[in-house]
Amino acid sequence: MDESKFVIGCVSCNEKNCHVGHNKFPAETGFIKSQLTDFFAGYTCPFCGSSYVPTASMMKMISRFLDGFSHVRTTRKGIEVYGRDVKISFPAVPENAVPQNLDSELYQQFKNFLFQNSDEDLPILLEAMQDIDLDKWYIRIESANNPEPLLRDDVLWTDILTGDVINKED
Ligand SMILES: [Zn+2]
Repeated sequence: MDESKFVIGCVSCNEKNCHVGHNKFPAETGFIKSQLTDFFAGYTCPFCGSSYVPTASMMKMISRFLDGFSHVRTTRKGIEVYGRDVKISFPAVPENAVPQNLDSELYQQFKNFLFQNSDEDLPILLEAMQDIDLDKWYIRIESANNPEPLLRDDVLWTDILTGDVINKED
């Protein structure tokens, strides 16, 4: 099986490339675990030269989730976690905001399908996301431990803040 992979991309350059039909050349770069030290030293978009330097929280999250069983990706709207037949999304929350519905029955029922250790993994994920501008950068973690491929154009969107917490897919 392939190795888990971390991907970072430049939102505006990726949109531009797709616009002019260069979508075979997305403005993104993937790293397997043994290549992460390259990313941790700082990433520069090869198209526009914007740079991103990951924080300790971001490095911790990436290292941890590469060993996990869920895919993670960000959009401008927030974070999506694709676990074992369960998907959850979080809006990009302002600093220190805590999702309100974590005590909901649905989340409690499904959290172990999303995270190896939800009490630790979720705060690590949310903390890391404070350190990246989702209008400028997107990231993905493609877990080799999740047999389901990451469907990039999945239109379903659920929101842990507004109560429609989780889609349990058939
Ligand atoms: Zn760029």
